[in-house]
Amino acid sequence: MTTAQHAIIAGGGIGGLAAAVALNQAGIRTTVYERGEELRVGGAGLHLWTNAMLALESLGLTDAVRKTAPVQQFCEFRTWRGDLLGSWPVGEFEDRFGQPTVAIARSALHEVLQTGLTDTRIRTGTALTGFEQDGDGVTARLSDGSTDRADLLIGADGIGSAVRTQLMGSTPPRYAGCVAWRGIASLGPDVIPAGSFRSIFGRGTRFVYYDIAPGRVHWMSVENGPAGGTDGPGVLETTARRHQGWADPVQRIIAATDESTVIRTDIVDRAPDTQWGQGRVTLLGDAAHPMSFNVGQGACQAIEDAVILAERLRSDDSVPTALAAYEAERKPRTASMQKAANILGKLGSWSNPVAVGARHLIMRAGWERGAFKSIEADARYGTRWASSAGRT
Ligand SMILES: Cc1cc2nc3c(=O)[nH]c(=O)nc-3n(C[C@H](O)[C@H](O)[C@H](O)COP(=O)(O)OP(=O)(O)OC[C@H]3O[C@@H](n4cnc5c(N)ncnc54)[C@H](O)[C@@H]3O)c2cc1C
Repeated sequence: MTTAQHAIIAGGGIGGLAAAVALNQAGIRTTVYERGEELRVGGAGLHLWTNAMLALESLGLTDAVRKTAPVQQFCEFRTWRGDLLGSWPVGEFEDRFGQPTVAIARSALHEVLQTGLTDTRIRTGTALTGFEQDGDGVTARLSDGSTDRADLLIGADGIGSAVRTQLMGSTPPRYAGCVAWRGIASLGPDVIPAGSFRSIFGRGTRFVYYDIAPGRVHWMSVENGPAGGTDGPGVLETTARRHQGWADPVQRIIAATDESTVIRTDIVDRAPDTQWGQGRVTLLGDAAHPMSFNVGQGACQAIEDAVILAERLRSDDSVPTALAAYEAERKPRTASMQKAANILGKLGSWSNPVAVGARHLIMRAGWERGAFKSIEADARYGTRWASSAGRT
């Protein structure tokens, strides 16, 4: 058991809050510094795959998640004309692995994580600006001019992490060449059956949707193009034009969206880093391993990080040893997902009609079996924590 009593966490996103819950449960008090004036929700909804649900189960949070998050029954992949490219029966994961895959509103996940905090102080409107460490602890410098001291520092401060920058220097993230618009539509199960996920491929464009609560459908429209743009009023009209002629229900989803829910995001990631932390300082979530949305695992991996970090702090005597063990365990798993997301993103953004036709032939031939096997392996990873381990 480590001697750590207090941890400072930079960033109150999904990763920072999950880390605070997990460390509290390991008997470690945490202070979360969040630069935003309030905890930022950032985006409409997200998929929590079975591996993340099993990690959340180990924190005792899945009952609360399941009260709000629809269980996903199938994931379908289609062309913009509506032709089926592949379908995964993810509804069977609950019986096989002990937890389902769910879709959830980000705001709901934030609320659930906050209910799990037992010994955490959250200071919003306060950014971490730097740190110094010595043999006994870490001193964090904060944007209000104050400092705080703890046994360890966790940089859960996202892709532009200040902690990462101090450790490794400032390298800009890699732009994936596409922009995502996300929104929430009000549509019932008569149009979008409960528990359905659909990812639809066009030419240099994609549209993804799934229900995140009864009557609420999260969607994402993706298009190749330059970074740095902005939207004014009329973003829904532009979205509808981008997907003109696409099979039902794409236009109905766009038409049922409140324009104020639409968020625009330039898609960025990084190649895997060989170094995450140093001594009493480490990284977690997007600060450590930012990956594009193409595997739907960025937040899931942040939650896994949190649980493993707490496990290592429970079992290793010294903080630096525990952090090194955490990083050694997490790097290979997250690196493979960063790489897979990058490759899938490139395939998804193809726009040449011949290449698009070839992509769809490949998907029809192998997507259902090949890619589903990899999703099953990801889910199985989470059974390490499951009370239901062995069900597979
Ligand atoms: C379009 C899209 C779709 C996605 N879909 C999914 C999905 O379906 N499933 C999934 O698992 N993942 C998905 N992701 C990825 C997921 O959103 C991220 O991986 C996840 O939110 C990362 O959480 P985080 O806490 O590590 O970082 P962030 O969410 O970036 O949180 C970092 C926090 O740190 C704060 N901060 C920054 N700098 C400082 C500082 N210096 N001091 C203090 N605070 C600071 C920020 O304000 C922020 O609140 C998607 C991402 C995108 C863009």
